[in-house]
Amino acid sequence: MARQNLEGIVIRPPSEAGSFLLQVTHGCSHNRCSFCITYKFTKFGRRPFEKIKEDIELASRHNPHVRRVFLCDGNAMCLSTEELSQILDLLNKKFKKLERVGIYANATDILSKSLSELKLLREKKLGIGYLGLESGNDEILKKINKGSTSKEMTQAVRKAQEAGMLMSVIVLLGLGSNSMSKKHAEDSAVVISRMNPSFLSALTLMLLPGTPLYSEYLKGNFGLMNPLSILEELECFVSGIEVEGPCVFRTNHASNYLPLGGVLPDDKAAILEAIEYGISNPSILRSEKHRAL
Ligand code: SF4
Repeated sequence: MARQNLEGIVIRPPSEAGSFLLQVTHGCSHNRCSFCITYKFTKFGRRPFEKIKEDIELASRHNPHVRRVFLCDGNAMCLSTEELSQILDLLNKKFKKLERVGIYANATDILSKSLSELKLLREKKLGIGYLGLESGNDEILKKINKGSTSKEMTQAVRKAQEAGMLMSVIVLLGLGSNSMSKKHAEDSAVVISRMNPSFLSALTLMLLPGTPLYSEYLKGNFGLMNPLSILEELECFVSGIEVEGPCVFRTNHASNYLPLGGVLPDDKAAILEAIEYGISNPSILRSEKHRAL
């Protein structure tokens, strides 16, 4: 791994564990999702290019053989095409074996770029975007202040894919509570089927003190689901997914009760069988104390 020079809280997808993490922004440009506390106390800002350049040069001296880079923080796709191009050009120049650059991206920032801009970024090896759909249900998206509708997120994923990027989409189990669990699962499956992403992850909601959603929980306006209800929601979600594929599906995040993996649509029956097994054998589920973000 390359030498990394990171400030504040830095998150990255599990699949980017071996990547050189390059901070190009601080915080999240949206920073309003009601369940999220990651960047609540971080003022959003762009890092000056000189600082980014210093980090790339330092990393390239320590490990010139870097193949993968992940652009942090929360929503680096909000940078302009010119800013991203400048960073990607330097990465390509300094790391001759560079294969792929990844980024967290929300729908607004993808849609604000033209198809030719996205293609240009793809040519410069911006190869994968991670988008938090959270839910395919617009009522839930509004409640959690996601800032985008399911239609906008679908358009964004399809546009990035048309430009040649891989898209990895994240759904958050438990976000609809018991009352909207079925709608959350069914609508999320419909949206994922329309998106047809290359990668799909399901995470499970963890309520974090200090978030608006936690306040709603304390007031009795939001209920946490138990592990079995979460698995039933997951089962309903997977049952409804009709992707062309191949779509690599994972629930290996530490927030989940049951780690699963497979490729949709081929492994759908096996994944559903594994969920059924988890429902019938709750002793195999990850305990609350071992869950983490
Ligand atoms: S877009 Fe992501 S990082 Fe930003 S507030 Fe929402 S969940 Fe948190």
